[in-house]
Amino acid sequence: MIKLKNAVEDHVVDSYQSLRPHFPEFCGCEMCRADVVVYALNRLPPRYVATLEGTVVTEVNLDKQQGRASIDVAVMDGFRRVAMSPRCGKAPVGV
Ligand SMILES: [Zn+2]
Repeated sequence: MIKLKNAVEDHVVDSYQSLRPHFPEFCGCEMCRADVVVYALNRLPPRYVATLEGTVVTEVNLDKQQGRASIDVAVMDGFRRVAMSPRCGKAPVGV
C-alpha cells in the first residue's frame, strides 16, 4: 500500500533530538516533545513523498528554503513556546 508522508517530519524529529541537550530546563515529556514537533511542523512548508508501506524512506533532500537552518529555528522557537506554557502541567520555565 502506498502511503503519503511529510518528509519534513523526520527532519524535525532529528532536529528535536540534537537540540534537546541545549535546553536542559525543558520538560521533555511525551506531550511537550510532541508539542514542539507539531509547533515546528505547522510553521514549515511540508514536503510530501509517496512511499511503499514497509519500506524505508530514502533521505529526501530539502531545498534551500526549507533547509536544516530553518528547521532548527522553528524547533528552537517551539522549545521556547512550549516551555513557557507546558500542557502537561509542569511549571513554566524560560529556556
Ligand atoms: Zn511536559
